[in-house]
Amino acid sequence: MCGIIGIENNNKASVLVAAGLLTLQHRGEESAGITVNNGQKNTMKTFTAMGLVSRIFSEEILCSALPGKAAIGHVRYTTSDKSSLINAQPFQINCIHGDIAVAHNGNITNFLEIRKKLLNKGAIFNHTSDTEILLHLIAMTKGNLKTIISKSVRKLHGAFSLVILKNNILIGVKDLNGFRPLVLGKIAKSFILASETSAIEVLGGKYIRDIAPGEIIIIKDGHIMDSFIYAKSKKQNACIFEQVYFSRPDSIMFGQTIKEARVKMGTYLAKQMKNIQADIVMPVPDTGYFAALGFARESKILFENGFIRNHYVGRSFIKPSQHLRSMTARLKLRPIKEVVSGKDIVLIDDSIVRGTTSKILIRILKDSGAHNIHFALSCPPIISSCYYGIDTPQKQHLIAAMYSIKEIQQYLNVTSLTFLSLDNLINACSLKTNNKQTFCSACFTGIYPTKFEKDIIVLKEQVK
Ligand code: SF4
Repeated sequence: MCGIIGIENNNKASVLVAAGLLTLQHRGEESAGITVNNGQKNTMKTFTAMGLVSRIFSEEILCSALPGKAAIGHVRYTTSDKSSLINAQPFQINCIHGDIAVAHNGNITNFLEIRKKLLNKGAIFNHTSDTEILLHLIAMTKGNLKTIISKSVRKLHGAFSLVILKNNILIGVKDLNGFRPLVLGKIAKSFILASETSAIEVLGGKYIRDIAPGEIIIIKDGHIMDSFIYAKSKKQNACIFEQVYFSRPDSIMFGQTIKEARVKMGTYLAKQMKNIQADIVMPVPDTGYFAALGFARESKILFENGFIRNHYVGRSFIKPSQHLRSMTARLKLRPIKEVVSGKDIVLIDDSIVRGTTSKILIRILKDSGAHNIHFALSCPPIISSCYYGIDTPQKQHLIAAMYSIKEIQQYLNVTSLTFLSLDNLINACSLKTNNKQTFCSACFTGIYPTKFEKDIIVLKEQVK
């Protein structure tokens, strides 16, 4: 998963992009980068580094090294390649069309096949990431900007929300299935494209609309020059896990905030567990918070915060190795003994992936005197890996793919274990229950909305 943002027609473009990236930091903590254009042809500059946005982009870098009128930015975590500086985005090239840069969120599922063809034609690659093939396709395509971009992205399969910079022109693209979010907003005379609405609002901008599946939008000097569908989308398959885990609670998705969707997830969970008896409902911070609130309101069981989160430790799920993930879980959450000791607890988390983090948290609670723990998750069991840009591991590492719910309950040492049903999750994520949004839910069903190369599965295993 990654976060992307672009802004045009603004003399503080790189400063605004850096602030937007800070708001999108939860989408990737491994590296960050900004590309800026100063209004002249072929004067593009890119600055990337490993680590957090706040550590990379000082005032000096933004104002002295990255002045310009249009900029794009990226925060990254690894899905299809190695976690290293060479793969930090945006990627910038100089080609027959001049300077072009791209920032990508998602996974191109036919990139190995395209890469092989390009290599046979003599292409030279600087990175190992899937995104680079797009720049090669752009460089090898002839025509005006609209033709170059649409012909190039038509060759790609899978998940890609993109922001592209060509001189001072900002371009947004969303794949045919609309897996990853990309929204349009405006601040004064500048347009913004971003992964989440919160990144627009934090800049004082206004969210206008979502970029549609299969849409390309071209923006220049505060005007939308063109906006069209490059190929007909059959059905939207927005990633439902965005609402369960990834997106910020204050972002709007399909007409409601993520917070509202998560409160509804908790309400439905409480309905599924209507006979449960407990002293308190407690979230695993932060993503379990609003689902626990919804559960407490519906069940009338007291809501309590029994974990204190260390905000200086990153999100455990998006760390690229198991060793780092386990250490992070212990560092990140400490229980408040007075809250949990002697209590029967409904503990709400967003999901179980490998089960190791959940086991550690439950042990910590029991060590602090918790009595019965009823563990409830605001999504169904994850039984399949994601090939559309989220770092769920291969099937054999997913606890729910390998063990029954009873076995997981025993492994975690909890009194009961409940998963939100897929129907209830879809209801929670759709604004209207009689007009349900269509989602990708492949990690819960194993039914993938698109085909992908077998090699992608092998590659994902190698990255782990
Ligand atoms: Fe999202 Fe799961 Fe689909 Fe991946 S497989 S896009 S995580 S719903």
